[in-house]
Amino acid sequence: MSVSGLCQICESRPAQERCDNCGTLACEQHYERRLSLCADCAAQAQPGKDPNSDDVDVHRF
Ligand SMILES: [Zn+2]
Ligand SMILES: [Zn+2]
Repeated sequence: MSVSGLCQICESRPAQERCDNCGTLACEQHYERRLSLCADCAAQAQPGKDPNSDDVDVHRF
């Protein structure tokens, strides 16, 4: 499926896909085809890859 607009992550490349989880438009570099997720959601789906999301299991207020 093709989408129109810029990648909402880098905002410099044309978007190729839409994230199944959050709907973010993402270019090829910021879209994980295996997961059908944008780079942000893919990082959350694979803990340990993103150094900023090491406490996802205790993310509460
Ligand atoms: Zn991008
Ligand atoms: Zn996403």
